[in-house]
Amino acid sequence: MPLAERYAHVKAGIPPNVTLVAVSKTRSVAEIQSLYDLGQRHFGENYPQELREKQPVLPHDIAWHFIGHLQRSNVKHIVPFVHLIHGVESERLLEEIQKRALAEGRSVDVLLQVFIAQEETKHGLSPAELRSALKTWPWAAWPNVRVRGVMGMATNTEDRSQVQGEFESLAALWAELRSTEVFPRDQFTELSMGMSGDVDLAIAAGSTMVRVGTAIFAAR
Ligand SMILES: *Cc1c(COP(=O)(O)O)cnc(C)c1O
Repeated sequence: MPLAERYAHVKAGIPPNVTLVAVSKTRSVAEIQSLYDLGQRHFGENYPQELREKQPVLPHDIAWHFIGHLQRSNVKHIVPFVHLIHGVESERLLEEIQKRALAEGRSVDVLLQVFIAQEETKHGLSPAELRSALKTWPWAAWPNVRVRGVMGMATNTEDRSQVQGEFESLAALWAELRSTEVFPRDQFTELSMGMSGDVDLAIAAGSTMVRVGTAIFAAR
């Protein structure tokens, strides 16, 4: 199936109010440009070095999402242009983003990553850690960081009811955090969940932002 067909197929399953982030890690500049030419503007990358190489040679109105595990030493390289950092999970990382955002004279949007999977390998804060962080982390010390919502990844399993349960629990946590208004409600609007294999379940559970790679670009 050609790219345009796969893209149309993916888009057909996504309501207009849900942001589709095309995950372009390991994809060439030419592949990204082809999808851009079909109208896609939000792209997600996992590796800072790869993103740094692609960003300058692709159209400047692309909204780049950083969806990988971000180390503090790499923050300075992506802060000048990044649209949204999905995987924030520590105070020290927030401090570094604040410092670099201030130096750039901009504010940077981030999502807090929540651990929802039954797996050892996934990053993120547990729901209990996140509730506690909301009360104890010095959010006011990071005026150049805008917390826009939460991000999570479900367990990589064939058991769809487990994935559904994990997405529903993240959606409930997101709603709970919105109601506390630690962050302004009109700012804390994003619930990033859903990938190629589980995007339908994520949307049914209330996702506002899906991150889709292989279903658009074909298998890696
Ligand atoms: C690679 C990746 C995706 C996309 O995965 P696909 O299965 O290719 O759709 C989404 N989110 C994150 C965090 C990823 O690393």
